[in-house]
This record gives sequence, structure tokens and C-alpha cells, in this order.
Amino acid sequence: MRRLAKAHVAQIRPYQPGKPVEELERELGISGAIKLASNENPVGPSPKAVLAAREALTGVNRYPDAGCFVLRRRLATHLGVDPGELLIGAGADEVLGLIGQTYLGPGDEAIFAWPSFAMYPIVVQAAGATAVAVPLDGDLVHDLGAMAAAVSPRTRVVFVCNPNNPTGTAVGADAFDHFVEGLPADVILAVDEAYYEYARRSDLPRAIDWVRRRPGTIVLRTFSKIYGLAGLRVGYGISDPETIGLLHRTRHPFNVSLVAQAAALAALDDAPHVEASRRINAEGLAYLGRELSALGIRVWPSETNFLLADAGAGAHDALLREGVIVRPMAGFGLPQHVRITVGLPEENERLVKTLRRLREQPR
Ligand SMILES: *Cc1c(COP(=O)(O)O)cnc(C)c1O
Repeated sequence: MRRLAKAHVAQIRPYQPGKPVEELERELGISGAIKLASNENPVGPSPKAVLAAREALTGVNRYPDAGCFVLRRRLATHLGVDPGELLIGAGADEVLGLIGQTYLGPGDEAIFAWPSFAMYPIVVQAAGATAVAVPLDGDLVHDLGAMAAAVSPRTRVVFVCNPNNPTGTAVGADAFDHFVEGLPADVILAVDEAYYEYARRSDLPRAIDWVRRRPGTIVLRTFSKIYGLAGLRVGYGISDPETIGLLHRTRHPFNVSLVAQAAALAALDDAPHVEASRRINAEGLAYLGRELSALGIRVWPSETNFLLADAGAGAHDALLREGVIVRPMAGFGLPQHVRITVGLPEENERLVKTLRRLREQPR
């Protein structure tokens, strides 16, 4: 058959999702596998969100509100912005895709750090633009100086993932503000804050404040992480009304399901769920950091719900055989590393015990 696919699409390396628990159990003929691989909230969704989703189900003969009116209004209050400064997507992933569709084409360049979120190169290539990946610095933190130096007349979009996935590291407000001040005005700045609600350092940049100071700044957040609604697909972008209006142009009208809108709305009213999720994560991070370090495994400081660990070559596959799914980092050029999502205490203990056992085994 004639090769019909656009070359820049055919050349995209597919996104590698975490292995589903059921698939691993079937492959190994085991049960009780655990997944600490996709940065999901192990606490579960807010019970209020589940109830709202269940109630919304009886109305799914109707199309959802195409403008997410109620959710946008509630979210605007929550964030201290105007509803017109918000675009709700089927996950932050959809908003990333809209940025690519709206601002990138052949001949354009988009800059992002590497390793960082695997969707950036996909979004850029899908638009036929050129991806400019700038290596993280020696501490695996965004090298904002090098990213600024990579800006060219062709640059249309700069992605900053803060805190960064898959390293868990974050840049501080001073470095971030300095970087933004130096960025040309005619470049879209997309600040991906998927883990914002987990971050604890006090000098985290206030990217949202730049939305009003610098048109063309887009902050992305999601209900998939701390709100525990990854399976329902709700995320959003915060930007100036003009940019939001442009992103809306190619958005599918009914992109966020009726059930998802209802659940997200209810999740915003469940502060105790978010608080508990944050606390359980902080305790899990501290535990994992301590125990892995004691095993001689280097971990990086994390502002997220996951931990980058240099567990050694073969660790990922060995854990998998023991029914513990973590994310391999070989695809990011870090063959010795794994990304471990913080789980519930018993899951974290199982991971530590398994790693300890694997280390004690003669090879
Ligand atoms: C998880 C994640 C997202 C996307 O989440 P959605 O489920 O699409 O809302 C975006 N960026 C980063 C860095 C992430 O880790």
C-alpha cells in the first residue's frame, strides 16, 4: 500500500504507558501484583467525586456541557482567576495537544528539557515541528540558562515541566522568574504543573501570576494526580483570554464527559481528600527516600508523588518478576534508573522488601 501517513507522524516513537497490573499477572501467572508506575493517587478518588460521578451517570443520554460552564466557574474561584482564563481538557494531555495544533507547524521549533514528560516530543512532532530537547543539568534539574540559549527566531513554544516528570525535581522562583523575564514576548510559555499540589518547597514559582503579566503564558494542571481522577480524564490550561480563545478553535466540543465534569466539580469541594493525599504522599516519600538510601540506592529530591532512583541495571525487570511494577527509565537514556510512584504504606514496604531481597541475592 502507498505510504499515506505523514512522515513526521510515522516517525513518532509511541508513548510507553505503565504496564497494567492485570497484564503482568496474566504473563507471570501470579496474583497480587502492585503498580507504582503511573503516578496515580494510591488513596483513590474522593468519595464525593465518586458519588457525583455515579449520580451523573443517569443523565448520560445528554451531551455534556460543551463549555464546562459550572466546572470553569468553580475552578476559577478555586484558583483566583476568571472563567475566561480557563480551558478544560480531557486531561492536561489534551491541552498539550491543542498547544501543538495551535502554535506549531513545519519549520517551527519547540524547546523542552530532557528527560521530561514524554508527551512533549510527541505533541511537537505530531504538528510537524522540530523538537529541541535541552539536557537537564547535573542535578537533573531544568537547565533554564541552556534553555534560554536554545531560543531561536524559529522558537514558538517552550515547555517547562515544574516539578519535572520523571525526575521529581523542581526549579525555584528566582531562577524561573529570571528565565521568563528573558524570554521573547512572541514565544508561548507552557508551564506544566501536573504535580503542583504535591510540591512542598516554599519557593516554588508562582507561574499562574505570569499569566496576567505575560500574554502567551499557559499553565497546565490536572485532576489526574492529587485529585485521583486519572481514569476520568480532566485537566486544564490557565492563560489570557485571547490565548484560551485560540486553543478552543480546534478543541472537540464535547471533550470532557458529563461524568468527568461532575466528578471534578465535586473533587474541588473535598479539601480533606486532597489534604490526606498530600500527607500520605509526604510520609511515603520520606519513607522511600530513607529506606532506599539505606540500601545504597541514590534517589533524587522529589516535589512530586514519585521518586527517581538509581536502582542499578536490571532492577526494573527483576522487580517486575516479583510483581512490582515501576517505570523503567531506559527510554530516557537512564538505563540504571527507575521511577517509583509513592504508594500506600504497605505497597511502599513491599517495594523496599523486594529491593532488599534482590540486593541480597547472589547474582
Ligand atoms: C500526568 C501528567 C500530565 C497529564 O495528565 P493528564 O492525565 O492528561 O491530565 C501532564 N504532564 C505531566 C508532567 C504529567 O506527569
